[in-house]
Amino acid sequence: MKVQSVHTHLLDYPLDTHFESASMHFDRRQHCLVEVVCEDGTTGWGECLGPARLNAAVVEAYSKALIGQNPLHTEWLWLDLYNRLRDQGQRGLTVTALSGIDIALWDIKGKHLGVPISTLLGARIRDTVKAYATGSFRRAGVDRVTDIAREVAGYRQEGFHAVKIKIGFDVEEDLAVIAAVREAIGPDMRLMIDANHGYDLLEALEVGKRASEFDVDWFEEPVLPEQIDTYRAVRAGQPLAVAGGETWHGRYAMQAPLETRAVDILQPDICGVGGFTEMRRVADMAAMHGVRLVPHVWGTAVCIAASLQFAASLLPNPPRRDPIEPILEFDRTENPFRQSVVTAPLEHERGVVTIPDGPGLGIDINRDALAQFALKES
Ligand SMILES: [Mg+2]
Repeated sequence: MKVQSVHTHLLDYPLDTHFESASMHFDRRQHCLVEVVCEDGTTGWGECLGPARLNAAVVEAYSKALIGQNPLHTEWLWLDLYNRLRDQGQRGLTVTALSGIDIALWDIKGKHLGVPISTLLGARIRDTVKAYATGSFRRAGVDRVTDIAREVAGYRQEGFHAVKIKIGFDVEEDLAVIAAVREAIGPDMRLMIDANHGYDLLEALEVGKRASEFDVDWFEEPVLPEQIDTYRAVRAGQPLAVAGGETWHGRYAMQAPLETRAVDILQPDICGVGGFTEMRRVADMAAMHGVRLVPHVWGTAVCIAASLQFAASLLPNPPRRDPIEPILEFDRTENPFRQSVVTAPLEHERGVVTIPDGPGLGIDINRDALAQFALKES
């Protein structure tokens, strides 16, 4: 079995209503899918977190080394590709691009062996996972407090058990949003806050202290991701659990946050951390340090499918009869191709998502959608 060709599919959609987090403005949705085709016709799919065109350029650079290789040798191929750009690329786009390739190779392996990836990972110990709604970005020209309160009330009605809202803009306005959201969702629904590294240390401490009365599950990316010491200061100086990790790519990027206890919850993204191959290692590292793992998810159904396969296999730590189950981040922002890239959408049912049990990722790609939303070169 040999790899015959590697393709990237750049998807693009200009948004009617722009939105923003504390660190990023979204005027379009763009994602990069990776397709690896084998000589026997087996095809694997993956996805890269981050800028689509840049990821595609790195995938193309890797692809020359991949053609002719045995796609089942995932450990070796990960190391070989990583090593080719190691000197200039120990994290960032070199690893996010490698993630898309690695996911596609695991999809091929599962299809070749006729089992879902979760089985290959060691155990398919669950068939469903609870999803939490991610939304409440800032939109221009609307009152943020009432806009977001209305939005999260909708998630409650849809059956979600938890919601994550965007803060990191302005301390007083953010606290007003948090209060209004708690009021809108009631006392039982879980609430997480995500600053997308929009605060400095003093702002983060103030928000963490004052938000604690609203029963917040975790405080995500309070400060800049390069500043591990600042993370530790946030963790020490306010009562909320601190989460982070979506911008830390590869196991070495996770080492310092784990060893210095900078986070309570680690959030690797399977499309950014290095695919299944590296996610497994990072999950082991987190478990060794007693840090809970709640993966970040931001992409199309390919990314969701990969995240679901991993969630199906994530072992309880510690093992017990009533384990803390993983939860799935479920992006609710506008993205018309998120689910249409697959023939059977991976939608939630009252806040619960069923994990596909077909071979590989358990999805089939809808090529009409790839054509419909293909990025037009300009
Ligand atoms: Mg986040």
